[in-house]
Amino acid sequence: MRRWLVRPALYTGPMSSEQPSIFSRIIAREIPADIVHETDTLIAFRDINPQAALHLLVVPKTEAYRTVVELATGDPALLAELVALAQQLADTHADGDFRLLFNTGAGANQTVFHVHAHVLAGGLTEGSLAH
Ligand code: AMP
Repeated sequence: MRRWLVRPALYTGPMSSEQPSIFSRIIAREIPADIVHETDTLIAFRDINPQAALHLLVVPKTEAYRTVVELATGDPALLAELVALAQQLADTHADGDFRLLFNTGAGANQTVFHVHAHVLAGGLTEGSLAH
């Protein structure tokens, strides 16, 4: 009798859905991160490769928006919440002044396509903006 070999480890199913983003895995506590704040809709944690004395990422928990442009169109209230949380974090962890940065598109060096804001504070210099 002929028997089919089933190799479940290699089977990804028909039209397998996309993998959760690295940020969703942080939200799910599947991988560790230095989480500094969390609400029902947002999470903030330290960037693993800090570019300033304070470098936090503020991330909507939903993966529905890949870029800030999609977020602004799809849920402007959530974008406003994110901006308000950035101020709160800069108040708590720095002197209240901060740079808010959204890399948008691969050409701008966006590497994680789950919208997130970089909150940078402390020792920022004018000439460093584009580097
Ligand atoms: P972007 O290049 O704008 O998409 O930013 C992605 C950011 O995520 C980079 O600054 C990375 O250093 C940061 N990052 C990637 N993986 C992790 C992680 N596991 N924990 C914290 N930050 C991360």
